Amino acid sequence: MSPLGKSGFLVNMKEKERYQIVLNRFEVEMPSPQTELHYANPYQLLVAVILSAQCTDKRVNIITPPLFAAFPTPADLAAATPEQVFELIKSCSYPNNKTKSLIGMAKRLVDEYDGNVPDDIDSLLTIPGVGRKTANVILSVIYNKPTMAVDTHVFRVAERIGLTTRSRTPRATEEKLTDNIPADQIPRAHHWLILHGRYVCKARKPMCGECFLADVCRYREKEIAQEARIEAKIKADALRHGVKTSDK
Ligand code: SF4
Repeated sequence: MSPLGKSGFLVNMKEKERYQIVLNRFEVEMPSPQTELHYANPYQLLVAVILSAQCTDKRVNIITPPLFAAFPTPADLAAATPEQVFELIKSCSYPNNKTKSLIGMAKRLVDEYDGNVPDDIDSLLTIPGVGRKTANVILSVIYNKPTMAVDTHVFRVAERIGLTTRSRTPRATEEKLTDNIPADQIPRAHHWLILHGRYVCKARKPMCGECFLADVCRYREKEIAQEARIEAKIKADALRHGVKTSDK
């Protein structure tokens, strides 16, 4: 491990080393991370993930119990009318589009996959309402495959910590993370980054003072360096104008 620099940061860290330290810290802090969506089988998780686009998990968990009770299987949902589904999901964002996606998804599961959720990305991507992110969640959570679903939290947190560098697209972040995280850790790493982004490394105001990654985080290191520059400039200006500063 690198020695601590004057600022308290681990300095001269190589990318591989940063990955190792960050992953080890997550293993200690969150040994068994789980999705916060409630589900009992692959079909229910697929419904919940489709509903979760632009919607909080908390809201989805309120919507799904009556929805699953009304349509317990893909065949039940495939036979539903749009009005029936809309009525049950209308408190979610984009209820019209999601109604179409849910019924279309259920029909496809029934028609093509015997009512089961397929376990390969090419098949998943043919299902209405399923994009790359949703497909990767299903593969990771249900089938424990080494796929990384990149949502807004994963994209932001990976870049802030320094696991990616100037990543421009979710796909680029996905490739960088899957290339550098051991396969057996990828399903957990997906949850680590999401949960860290949701509760600590928040978009508008990251809680760096409470973060167990603060001494290895690239964003925090830059921020501290910037604060030091500002402090030095204030002192230099004060000296120039003959004003005493409080520091000795
Ligand atoms: S130190 Fe701050 S910016 Fe870095 S991961 Fe933690 S909360 Fe996010």
